[in-house]
Amino acid sequence: NAEPVSIFSEGWLQRVYKEKAVKEVRSRFPPEPNGFLHIGHAKAIAVNFGFARHHKGVCYLRYDDTNPEKEEEKYFTSILDIVKWLGFEPWKITYSSDNFDKLYELAEELIKKDGAYVCHCSREEVNMQRGGPDNRGARYACEHRSRPVEESLSEFRAMRDGKYKAGEAYLRMKQSLTDPKEGNPQMWDLPAYRVIEKNHHHRTGEKWRVYPTYDFTHCICDALEGITHSMCTTEFQQSRISYDWLLEQLDMKVPKSEEKGPMQREFGRLNVGGTILSKRRILMLVEGTTVEKKNADGTTETKTIPPAVRGWDDPRLFTLVALRRRGIPAKALLNFVEELGVTDALTEIQPYRLESSIRKHLERTVPRQMLVLDPIKVVIEDFAAEDDQEITVPYDPKGAIPGERKVKLGKEVYIDRADFREEDSAEYFRLAPNKAVGLYNVAFPIRATSFSKDANGNITEIKAVKAEGEKPKTYIQWVDVATAISVTARQYNSLFKTESPNTLDWKTGGWADDLNPESEIIFEHAVIEKGLSDLIDTHSLNPSGASDDLVRFQALRTAYFCVDVESAKDKIVLNQIVSLREDKAK
Ligand code: ATP
Ligand code: MG
Ligand code: MG
Repeated sequence: NAEPVSIFSEGWLQRVYKEKAVKEVRSRFPPEPNGFLHIGHAKAIAVNFGFARHHKGVCYLRYDDTNPEKEEEKYFTSILDIVKWLGFEPWKITYSSDNFDKLYELAEELIKKDGAYVCHCSREEVNMQRGGPDNRGARYACEHRSRPVEESLSEFRAMRDGKYKAGEAYLRMKQSLTDPKEGNPQMWDLPAYRVIEKNHHHRTGEKWRVYPTYDFTHCICDALEGITHSMCTTEFQQSRISYDWLLEQLDMKVPKSEEKGPMQREFGRLNVGGTILSKRRILMLVEGTTVEKKNADGTTETKTIPPAVRGWDDPRLFTLVALRRRGIPAKALLNFVEELGVTDALTEIQPYRLESSIRKHLERTVPRQMLVLDPIKVVIEDFAAEDDQEITVPYDPKGAIPGERKVKLGKEVYIDRADFREEDSAEYFRLAPNKAVGLYNVAFPIRATSFSKDANGNITEIKAVKAEGEKPKTYIQWVDVATAISVTARQYNSLFKTESPNTLDWKTGGWADDLNPESEIIFEHAVIEKGLSDLIDTHSLNPSGASDDLVRFQALRTAYFCVDVESAKDKIVLNQIVSLREDKAK
């Protein structure tokens, strides 16, 4: 039974396993609960949870909650939700803060081993000690580095007990700051603990005034949880040396060996171009922002920029809640991440690559429907009583998706405004006066005979007749007027006009001038065949939690859509997932 080849059974991930081929693999996904996850995190989730699953091990979801200033409950809930949506179940859910007592003890232990000292230097002074602004100058120790262990210990306790304000004292690891041969800034006496005064922590309340840094916390939490393979992104490559150093100081790892303790390895991030992933910037899009503008005459002006999207889950964003809401199936997203592969190189993609992968997935998995975005009524004047019928149509003409639906045909049908022209021409193949067009699945084509307009010149109704026996050049989608379901359909385009929105002016609000006015196009009066209600009845409208059962379909000649989660039975909203074909402009 050869196992199917997967990203875990070859390449980078296989090598990582072989470097520490243990029986009981333990990994972890350690998000900071200070924002919503984005598409890049889907890779980190797939790597960490997938690795454990592949090796029949376990994976923790660990909230890295060491910064009480930035964390909010809604992020915790959403992160777990998304992990489950992607099809993974954490073996245990833990919090870095679970270990605050232990971390504090270990900090004291480190001090006692002369591996850390309390320092009172300013940020500027520390930067000078670390070689100045370009980190190239001579490095030197401050007076605190050589203070007696006992003194550091009592000062550290004083930090804990409230003697110092933020910035007045912090605990520094005694690494290799003064070794001129040590070229890695991660070894230049990094901070281990700092005072945070605004200190209501969501789990430990007011208990602590000192909080451990990432560099102090992460490796120790990995070790305490018995993590075997600690995989993170390559910006932590430089940190591997301090990760190992600290664990070795605390006898949690053996130098130059993977016998004991966790092993950190780094893979390349997944970045998406043409969009914004930074939490801070997305927040501006979600909440809008107020900026101060300096005029030439020295006066300042305040400019208020309104929100550019409806929320963190607005389908134009690339947060995972947004991609979910837009209707991208979790499975398709995971397949995409696997297709890209995992190495230590950065993967930078443009949105169209994701879209083409999603399209391939949907093509094979969702039923077809007839949707008319901008309807005009067509009255088939010679439609006889016996023409009234219910046509049985398969969900997929190619048969890849099982099932069929009943499509009603009556005397009046809607077609899309874009499929009619007042004046015919030779190279035009859809409906026009005296020209016939085919209606999908209907035995006879129709030929337009006349049309009427309202006071603004908009066509309100077309009269047509059956064009039996004629061979139309083209078939179009249509919806029976009597049984049509009214829906609102939203189509999405990129949020910005530029392809590199990260280069916009994010300081003084210049980004707002580059917003694409057509990033969302809403069709308030769209209609869809009555079969949609059968699709909805067999699904649940609410995809929260683990389920991924949004109603998705291919609207013929239009796009792939899903039923938005905030729809009600009598007020259905559709979100475009992706277009049918790649946009030619790209
Ligand atoms: P960002 O700065 O983009 O918001 P982050 O690194 O602050 O991301 P964390 O919550 O710390 O976010 O991330 C949790 C895990 O996800 C980390 O191990 C991190 O390396 C990984 N991760 C974050 N961004 C990406 C990305 N673009 N591609 C792959 N993995 C990522
Ligand atoms: Mg982080
Ligand atoms: Mg971050």
